[in-house]
Amino acid sequence: MQTKEISGLAIQVRGIVQGVGFRPFVYQLAKKNGLTGWVRNSSNGVEIEIHGENQSNIAFLDELTKSPPPLSRIDRITHTTCQPDHYTQFSIIESESDPDQFIPVSPDISTCSDCLAEMSEPTNRRYQYPFINCTNCGPRFTIIKDIPYDRPFTTMTDFPMCPDCQHEYDDPLDRRFHAQPTACPICGPSLTYIFAGNIIHGDKDAMAAAREALRNGHIVAVKGLGGFHLACDALNHSAVDELRRRKKRIEKPFALMIRDSSIIEKYCLVSGSEKQLLESRQRPIVLLTRRDDCTLPESLAPGQKTLGFMLPYTPLHYLLLENEPDFPEVFVMTSGNISEEPIAYLDHDAQVRLSPLADGFLTHNRDIHVRVDDSVMRVAGQTAVFIRRSRGFAPDPILLPFDVPSILSVGAELKNHFTLTRDAYAFHSHYIGDLENYETLQSFEEGIIHFENLFRVKPEIIVCDLHPDYLSTRYAMERSRSENLPLVQVQHHHAHLAACLVENSWESDDPVIGLTFDGTGLGTDGTIWGGEVLVGGYTTFNRRFHLNEFLLPGGDRAVHYPARTALALLAQYGIEWDHSLPPVKFFAEKEIEIIHAQIKKKINSPATTSMGRLFDAVASLLGVRQQVNYEGQAAIEMENLCDPNENGMYPFSLSADMIETSETFHKIMTDIKTNISKPIIAAKFHNSIVQMCIQISEVIQLETGLNTVALSGGVWQNMFIYSRTVEKLMKKGFQVLVHKKIPTNDACISLGQSIVAARIRQ
Ligand SMILES: [Zn+2]
Ligand SMILES: [Zn+2]
Ligand SMILES: [Zn+2]
Repeated sequence: MQTKEISGLAIQVRGIVQGVGFRPFVYQLAKKNGLTGWVRNSSNGVEIEIHGENQSNIAFLDELTKSPPPLSRIDRITHTTCQPDHYTQFSIIESESDPDQFIPVSPDISTCSDCLAEMSEPTNRRYQYPFINCTNCGPRFTIIKDIPYDRPFTTMTDFPMCPDCQHEYDDPLDRRFHAQPTACPICGPSLTYIFAGNIIHGDKDAMAAAREALRNGHIVAVKGLGGFHLACDALNHSAVDELRRRKKRIEKPFALMIRDSSIIEKYCLVSGSEKQLLESRQRPIVLLTRRDDCTLPESLAPGQKTLGFMLPYTPLHYLLLENEPDFPEVFVMTSGNISEEPIAYLDHDAQVRLSPLADGFLTHNRDIHVRVDDSVMRVAGQTAVFIRRSRGFAPDPILLPFDVPSILSVGAELKNHFTLTRDAYAFHSHYIGDLENYETLQSFEEGIIHFENLFRVKPEIIVCDLHPDYLSTRYAMERSRSENLPLVQVQHHHAHLAACLVENSWESDDPVIGLTFDGTGLGTDGTIWGGEVLVGGYTTFNRRFHLNEFLLPGGDRAVHYPARTALALLAQYGIEWDHSLPPVKFFAEKEIEIIHAQIKKKINSPATTSMGRLFDAVASLLGVRQQVNYEGQAAIEMENLCDPNENGMYPFSLSADMIETSETFHKIMTDIKTNISKPIIAAKFHNSIVQMCIQISEVIQLETGLNTVALSGGVWQNMFIYSRTVEKLMKKGFQVLVHKKIPTNDACISLGQSIVAARIRQ
């Protein structure tokens, strides 16, 4: 008899491989191939040793690489041969830990179909249990306090497992093997409903009470994965208006949650790729185009053509939205906060802050360790793009095309996210918010400490913006001073460009053409930039073109009142302030005089080259909006107005280094005076911006031979301009780089800051 030759392989896997059912998968795969050996979690991934016939080893490796468990993400897999050993079986062995190593932490994952099936099976012991989960789904990032990802280091540590749960947890063949948040009605968290001084305990009764309140048009605060939502029946006009009044959220759109994607089609147009995005396991809010016959109240998203929908993503949501005759089918699910404060995620804080907003609280006793907002996405062409990258995605690292030092970058003032880097990973934080109040700043500081601890990053360099007054800059300066670490300051638009490059795995320091258009970013000359055409790479940039400068009379007030910027531009271009013009009509005579003096004497009127403000001015002239209630509102509403069939455009001229819009404004005024329709004027203005992008790229191509254009900045959230510019540039043979992994708005700044700092300090 011929003896079979046994060989051994030692395999190392890096990536998201813990808490996602990786070891049981390996265990079963080894058994299937008749292999012996072991698998264990290590501090930086998973280690495997297999012993078997060569062919079986190869088959094992092949399947492991090609079809790993659904929630895992393999970043790197390496193997070496090892001495054949005579294990008698394959086993899962104790974790090995090294305090300096790290492994990526899984984001929170929506309820899987197996758990949903169990939840609706009356004989199952987790029938209708609002906290059902398994190795393939459930809370992760929001409950993890430290690594390794084991139950004692999560907020589930307060819930010792019952014998049944423990048995499943210990069985490598069970789908809850080492599912850290696993629980059941006997041993796990439970619901309570609190209203008007009453408390209803117990999953079934609490849920029934919350549903009854929602059915009756009340507003209920619901504790979710990363914080509290405020919920109400979205088809109930008075409930929606009342919620808006209480939240002081003037005109900012409310997100909606609906039982299943097929019902959305009653209200919005849903393409195949949008449906896919809605149903993806990350369950983001997806912006969808409202149908003309949509019966949902206009006040859900005033002035918008889109509505933000998401599907349930926790068992609690599924139970809350369960179908029943006469029960509302679509709910407002907006963040639990007043105006611009961060969302409430701790029970005691929620009870204090949300009491004036909610009629009742549907809450539970599983703590949320990290506050995480819902992610927001949309489909552009066939591609999914981020508007906010948070729940379901954070803290998934962005893989970098090269290794970088350990760096902390504190990001921008608005839409703040910070970034920590080490090796070839960038840990881009969850959404922090606008750093304009104490609560958000606290959330920012706590988040940084948590990330440093979780990913074992000890920053060697601190990076911030050029703006000295940003709270993030002050934090960075203070840390740099107290820890004696080098501080690097990176210009805002340079950070935009670098973020776009690194996201597209750009490896070299070769320059590209950067069209970085947004609202605000401090320039190297001390003025407010925002319409910047850069030629540059990671280490340096040249401000090749920029919009012509104009004044912002009243400074920040001009951001809130587009009419002010419109008046400044009219004055600058020698166009009379005719009383029939919307921005002139908007102000009282007295105010007009003050603005006039501000512009003339340049009092409190900083100069800017901001593209965002240029859009504001045109929106004001068209009568779209003279005052905004949230950032970008005027531009969004003007975009919605555009006639998509209009191909005309306005002229503009390029001087040595400037994009001149004087002629553009004169021609817009002619159209306004001759009563050309607003949708036509709006479309012509948008078309001119597209044309300008093409022309500028061609000019620079001629000068430098560069053929790659990178688009970054909040203006690129404008789909009219984005899709036409990308299409036309590509037709002209340009390689176009856009943001796909993080938003194009200021959320990307911290990533760009890290990369610039890493490369200039090399
Ligand atoms: Zn599951
Ligand atoms: Zn149990
Ligand atoms: Zn920006």
